[in-house]
Amino acid sequence: MKAGEFTLIKQYFDRPVPEGFLGVGDDAAILSVPLGQSLVVCKDMLVQGRHFVPDVSAHSLGHKSLAVNLSDLAAMGAKPLGFLLGLGVPKAEHAWLSEYALGLHALADQTGCPLIGGDTVCSQDIVISITALGTLPQGHPGLRRNAAQAGDDIWISGVLGAADVALQHQLGQITLSEDVFLRLRQYLDYPTPRLALGQGLLGLAHAAIDISDGLLQDLSHVLNASGCGAELVLADVPIHPDLACLSFEKAQIAALQGGDVYELCFTAPAGLRDQIDALGLALSVQLTRIGQIQAQPGLFGLHGDGQLTPLAPEGFDHFAHEHKDNV
Ligand code: ADP
Ligand code: MG
Repeated sequence: MKAGEFTLIKQYFDRPVPEGFLGVGDDAAILSVPLGQSLVVCKDMLVQGRHFVPDVSAHSLGHKSLAVNLSDLAAMGAKPLGFLLGLGVPKAEHAWLSEYALGLHALADQTGCPLIGGDTVCSQDIVISITALGTLPQGHPGLRRNAAQAGDDIWISGVLGAADVALQHQLGQITLSEDVFLRLRQYLDYPTPRLALGQGLLGLAHAAIDISDGLLQDLSHVLNASGCGAELVLADVPIHPDLACLSFEKAQIAALQGGDVYELCFTAPAGLRDQIDALGLALSVQLTRIGQIQAQPGLFGLHGDGQLTPLAPEGFDHFAHEHKDNV
């Protein structure tokens, strides 16, 4: 490591860690997993040109690079424990690093997920690779993709379509009014990982997934892993109210297909509806039932006129934006 790198790490990434942890500064971090808990680990990478444009706000990138990882922990029902940051930047640009670190640490503090180590390299483009660590009660299977059961309700948190429509505006594909764009871009730049919801669903939900690649595609992962199918009541899929400025069809496609969404889609027995409604109320998170898991494979949409048609997750190529492709 060069002296410059050391100063940079010290200045931006050396933060206090909980009692008993060893954080940034040694050859490796040390942490204890609380007694009776299992370790849950995930990693998501963000690459310039693929997941974000080079002139995106560094503060939002700091937030988002951690948020997408915390969303994966949330989708397992896990509680955050800490994270490691792998960062590649073309040069030590202090204005950029300081904004990035502010956005990153703000979310880390808010979610009780301290930065405990990482690696910093010089690279041609900005590359961010975060490894997040979390915990689940030992012996609990977590909210796995393969655990949906026929007859389960399908639920979704929040409202859908906002990030995709904001991105379409940024790409010049549609034109939104300034105030609508400002509201929608919050979903793209500052997504909220549904951590409290994920943990609250342990013991209630069977399967869960965060729908970062879009509702239909990610629900299909659950169906394939669980060996079952689903019927979605299309009129019940909650669409962000600002999408009323688009045609209903465009808004619905954005809600069903649009990526970069960090809401949780989960399945749960119909007998638990009241408890799930109560959880949503307690957490102030909108939870909507949007369909049912079927024993027969296949994903179908129930239309207002009673018609049932197959829903193809890859059916709308023009919405397959590059930024959301995960290789
Ligand atoms: P080494 O040469 O032993 O790999 P490094 O120079 O890579 O050491 O890292 C020194 C210390 O700084 C380590 O504790 C490492 O975890 C931490 N570190 C390096 N880069 C980052 C980063 N981007 N975020 C957080 N900690 C970092
Ligand atoms: Mg290193």
